[in-house]
Amino acid sequence: MSRPSKAIIDLAALRHNYATARRIHGGRVLATLKANAYGHGSVACAKALEPMADGLAVAFLEEALALRRADVSSPILILEGCFSAAELKEAHAQGCWVVVHHEAQLRALEEAAQPVRDMNVWLKLDSGMGRAGFPVEHAQAAYARLHACPQVGAVTLMSHLASADEPDKDQTARQLAAFDAATAGLPGPQSLANSAGLLAWPAARRDWARPGILLFGADPMPGGQHGLKPVMTLQSEVFAVRELRAGQSLGYGGRFVADAPCRVGLVAVGYADGYPRSVADGTPVAIDGLRSRIIGRVSMDMLTVDLTALPHAGIGSVVELWGASVSVHEVAMAAGTIAYELLCHVQRVPREHV
Ligand code: PLP
Repeated sequence: MSRPSKAIIDLAALRHNYATARRIHGGRVLATLKANAYGHGSVACAKALEPMADGLAVAFLEEALALRRADVSSPILILEGCFSAAELKEAHAQGCWVVVHHEAQLRALEEAAQPVRDMNVWLKLDSGMGRAGFPVEHAQAAYARLHACPQVGAVTLMSHLASADEPDKDQTARQLAAFDAATAGLPGPQSLANSAGLLAWPAARRDWARPGILLFGADPMPGGQHGLKPVMTLQSEVFAVRELRAGQSLGYGGRFVADAPCRVGLVAVGYADGYPRSVADGTPVAIDGLRSRIIGRVSMDMLTVDLTALPHAGIGSVVELWGASVSVHEVAMAAGTIAYELLCHVQRVPREHV
């Protein structure tokens, strides 16, 4: 028997979340499945979404190729674009759509030899994030060059929002205004919204949205009332039970010290499985559906949970590290990070797609 640790991936919940995004957005929705679908397994997620999705997005060509090798035939947008002429040729051969966000990529496209023709290109502008994208002052010129280029068949105008998940900040409104001014008069579809843009900024819902995190049931503005369903349950079982005396310490560094007799459950999930080492004692877990807490430092392959108040819990009790009972957001907060990072780091445990 193998260790009972796994990530259960609820594909019906994934489809529900995609349908929710589509309903809210009203336009076309690319399912962003980069980083192995945020740790959920990109091939299984792509296949589950293919019948309903308008298209998929990944960060890099290698991620698109993995999907094509698995016979995923949907349009795939490569968000970071191509890094060489060879990549561009391969992206063309695989029918991928490419983002162009800096001068070298634009030149590579202009200089690409046959058979690169009629590609679907997304021109990315920096409307205020200050990271990838042509400066808005160069938007018209970059568009004109793409338009004149036989390697290009269609151009979508896009930008990325830096703080759409903070609706009180005015940065998003400034980005939208900068994008609109820069693209005035340019024809073609537009795309601005990530998950938070789609949920919180109606003015960002253009022709295409590109949500990622919301598909996996993690609301970028936790507490949102959008009916998203968690897709991943990171789960294991108690494999051994220890009794601690008052005053005894537990785990690396002896950080947790029992102030009274205490029952501890050992769980075969550690930071090498993506559970964050940085959480404090008291971080929630669910044991046989009842909330309890992490005690002691998380180690590479194991963590320890408090069973003291759960007399019926013991070896074989089901431990949910995150899922429906404990949200990944709660654990992320306890670790001082975001749900994205935790989900992406789930790579060692087997995934069970249901
Ligand atoms: N679009 C681009 C260009 C991105 O880089 C990302 C992810 O960072 C997304 C869309 C999806 O973002 P989110 O997961 O916040 O919806």
